[in-house]
Amino acid sequence: MQYKAFENRYNQMSYNKCGKWGLRLPAISLGLWHNFGGVDVFENGRAMCRHAFDLGITHFDLANNYGPPPGSAEENFGKIMQLDMAPYRDELIISTKAGYQMWPGPYGEWGSRKSLLSSLNQSLKRMNLDYVDIFYSHRPDQDTPLEETMMALDQAVRQGKALYVGISNYPAAMALKAARILKALGTPCLIHQPKYSMFERWVEGGLLDVLENEGIGCIPFSPLAQGLLTDKYLDGIPEGSRAAKSWGFLQPEQVAPAIEKVKKLNEIALQRGQSLAQMALVWLLKDSRVTSVLIGASSVPQLDDNVAALNNRKFSKSELDEIELILTGETRKVKKPIVNEPRGVKPADFKVSMKPSIPETSNSDTTPSRGDFMATLASRLNYRK
Ligand code: NDP
Repeated sequence: MQYKAFENRYNQMSYNKCGKWGLRLPAISLGLWHNFGGVDVFENGRAMCRHAFDLGITHFDLANNYGPPPGSAEENFGKIMQLDMAPYRDELIISTKAGYQMWPGPYGEWGSRKSLLSSLNQSLKRMNLDYVDIFYSHRPDQDTPLEETMMALDQAVRQGKALYVGISNYPAAMALKAARILKALGTPCLIHQPKYSMFERWVEGGLLDVLENEGIGCIPFSPLAQGLLTDKYLDGIPEGSRAAKSWGFLQPEQVAPAIEKVKKLNEIALQRGQSLAQMALVWLLKDSRVTSVLIGASSVPQLDDNVAALNNRKFSKSELDEIELILTGETRKVKKPIVNEPRGVKPADFKVSMKPSIPETSNSDTTPSRGDFMATLASRLNYRK
C-alpha cells in the first residue's frame, strides 16, 4: 500500500533555525550511517524512515560511503524515496558528504575538486535525486588547499546539485577559515557537523564559539556515543547491538570503561523521568548553538523514545552540576570567553600532517587509521588548551 505520511507530523517536533540562516532543521535528525546498508534488513530501514517522517523528522543525513558496503545506504535511501517519500521531496532535507575513501585511486577520497564533485554526481545517481539539500566536505584535508575544497562546494551549489553546503570534522580555526572563504565565494557555510556528546566534548573548546560568531548551524553526530549513552549496555553487550556486530563501529572494548559513568547518568535520567538516551539528547539541545542532534537508530521504538526526549528539555542547575561531576569530576566551570582566532594558530599551521582518520567510515578496512582524528589534529594545531 502506498505510504501516506501522518497528517499531524508537524505537531510534536520543534524546528530550529540553522545558525542565522532561514533554513530550519528538526531538533532531532536521522542519520543513515548504520542500519541502512546492504548488510541490513531493508524493510526495517524503510520503516524507520517512514516513521521518522511521521514524527516530524524532516532531515535525513547520508554520506557516499555509508553502508556497508559503501554506497549501499544511499542506494537503499534512493529506493525508499522512490517507494514512499518522493511525493514529500519538498518537505525533506537530504544531505550527503564526500571525503572518506569511496573508490580506488587518488580521486576516491579527501578534498580535491575532482573527488568532491565526482562523488556528488555518484551520490545523486545512487539516491536517484536531482539535488541534495546539503553537501558536506566530510573531513579536512591537509594536502588540498582549503580554497580548492570550498570552491568545489560552491560549484556544487552553482550547478544546482546542492542547495546549501556544510563542513564536518573541521577544527575551530580551520572551520573559521573555511567559512570566510565560502562567504567570499558567495555560498555561505550553512552548518558544521562535529562529533559531540556527553562523552565527546571537543567542540566546547572553541568550535561552538566560532559557529555562533559566524552564524553557522551545528548538528552534532553520534549524540548517543553510538549507543553507549543509553541503557542498552548496562548489563553487558546485547546481541544485535552495534558493539556486537562485526561491522559496527562501536568496538566491544569501548563499552566496559564507560559503564561506571553510564550507570550514574542513568540514575539522574530516571530521576528526571527520562531514559538515558532522552537525557543525553536534550543535554546537547540545551545549548542554543546546537541546531539539531543527528541520531542513529536500529528500530522504530528507538525513534519514539528519542523524539519523546523533547517533552522534558529543562535541566535544574543541580542536575547540570551533578552531570558535570560525573563527566569530568568537577562542577560546572564559567563559560570561556569567545575565541575568534584560536591562539597560536597561524594560517600556515593548517598545513599539518593529519592522515589519521576519525573513527567513522563503513569500509573501515580501507580507512588509514582508527585513531582519534580530532585529538590528533587538535594537539598538532596546539589550540585546545
Ligand atoms: P548515535 O550516537 O545516536 O547512536 C545510534 C545508536 O544508538 C543506534 O544505532 C542504537 O544502537 C542506539 N540507540 C539509539 N537510540 C536508542 C534508544 N532510544 N535506546 C537505546 N539505544 C538507542 O548516532 P550514530 O553514531 O549512529 O550517528 C548518527 C549519525 O551521525 C550517522 O547516521 C551519520 O549520519 C552521522 N555521522 C556523521 C559522522 C561524520 O563524520 N560527519 C560520523 C558518524 C556519524 P543499536 O544499533 O545498538 O541499537
